[in-house]
Amino acid sequence: MGSRKVTSSEPLDWQGRHVTVAGLGVSGIPAAKVLHARGANVTVVNDGDDARAREQAAELEALGITVRLGDGATLPEGTELVVTAPGWKPDKPLFAAAREAGLEIWGDVELAWRLRGPDAAPWLAITGTNGKTTTTQMLASILKAAGLRTAAVGNIGVSLLDAVLGDEQYDVLAVELSSYQLHWAPSLRAHSAAVLNLAPDHLDWHGSMEAYAADKGRVYEGNRVACVYNVADKATEDLVRAADVEEGCRAVGFTLGTPGPSQLGVVEGILVDRAFVEDRHKNAQELAEISDVNPPAPHNIANALAAAALARAFGVPARAVRDGLRDFTPDAHRIAHVADVDAVAYVDDSKATNTHAAEASLAAYESIVWIAGGLAKGATFDELVAKSAKRLRGVVLIGQDRALIREALARHAPEVPVVDLDRTDTGAMLAAVQEASRLAVAGDTVLLAPACASMDMFANYNKRGDAFAEAVRELGS
Ligand code: ADP
Repeated sequence: MGSRKVTSSEPLDWQGRHVTVAGLGVSGIPAAKVLHARGANVTVVNDGDDARAREQAAELEALGITVRLGDGATLPEGTELVVTAPGWKPDKPLFAAAREAGLEIWGDVELAWRLRGPDAAPWLAITGTNGKTTTTQMLASILKAAGLRTAAVGNIGVSLLDAVLGDEQYDVLAVELSSYQLHWAPSLRAHSAAVLNLAPDHLDWHGSMEAYAADKGRVYEGNRVACVYNVADKATEDLVRAADVEEGCRAVGFTLGTPGPSQLGVVEGILVDRAFVEDRHKNAQELAEISDVNPPAPHNIANALAAAALARAFGVPARAVRDGLRDFTPDAHRIAHVADVDAVAYVDDSKATNTHAAEASLAAYESIVWIAGGLAKGATFDELVAKSAKRLRGVVLIGQDRALIREALARHAPEVPVVDLDRTDTGAMLAAVQEASRLAVAGDTVLLAPACASMDMFANYNKRGDAFAEAVRELGS
């Protein structure tokens, strides 16, 4: 069987090939179905064996797919290719066995990439620690404004498999990719790609910061037109340097400052392009005004510039960049202005679930009462607090790991008043908002940017943001 291994250079004839799909779930089930429909001999393996898994297994078995529940560790005999759910950690014994047998391991992105047809739409890919969803949606909005048939896909909205195999025809796809997905996507070659920023995240999965960065950097491999990097984040530029790209592919930076040649940036409130213009040493093209970006917080302007760079790499005219940015509204809980009460703005950035995101959102306001805390996921808060201290009118702490933030505040901002609510119940949000309103003075912003995950108190960050908005409404009534 080993001689029939599926390799990246082979044409895809799936008839009778033995494929093991690792993980029932959002990517595993469609992968198993698609491969089965193409004639592959599919076995799904899954760690869990609960009622839900049995139900899903029964559905697949009815189609003729083999499912092995309660054992995701052993490689089925005769496997020629492993297709894994992106979240499966690379150190699993199943993968060790697959590597030992010289087999390829594909994630959901690799599978979609390999199954796309000969006339498939090119991919404009986006990754980074924070801002992926927002930037991908901004990009899709810009591409649409240019009259292109497109969708925001990947980690969001439509699944990649549906996008490449469905009936809908696309001219180009705006693709959000996580570091896990990139890890398992060895042959992906985007038209152009951006790494928005790099901060420690998911290190337990990747094993080290270097491994995490290297997986993010895969997004640049084989780019044809542009590798877009963040001038303010040298690590992203280093990844471009390390990438093996097509002849003629350019490194294009984005910056909140004045752009140099081959960069996009900001000049006197205008987003300008000095990369995709004729004679970039002398010329610049106006793209949009800062006020066209919603919300016009610095990190979001950076997202807009990255989206613009990818769109321009695809040949989109300046006018469409402006129109697309104007048309775009961010998803809920991302710097969402909830209400003004007594001349204090209340802003919900519940999606700021790590310190890097919270730092960006704290940088967007001058005088802040900060509501923070939750599950720290191993993070430390010294840098965040030290950088943000001068903007803090006061802090209200909630959630399980709030002591870590309190201690960082004591070290770096001892003069800032802190209310430690010592609560992890859902109702604590109302008390937090009330405390924040007492600390705030006219002109301040009360900002929910927890820098932590929500699961100690809420089902997810959406529910946390909803609780905040509800509390603000009560305050105002
Ligand atoms: P992702 O898909 O990478 O999680 P989102 O677009 O959903 O990113 O934004 C998540 C959070 O990250 C936002 O709520 C905001 O706090 C923060 N954020 C967004 N863009 C950036 C950026 N460019 N740099 C730092 N933080 C950002």
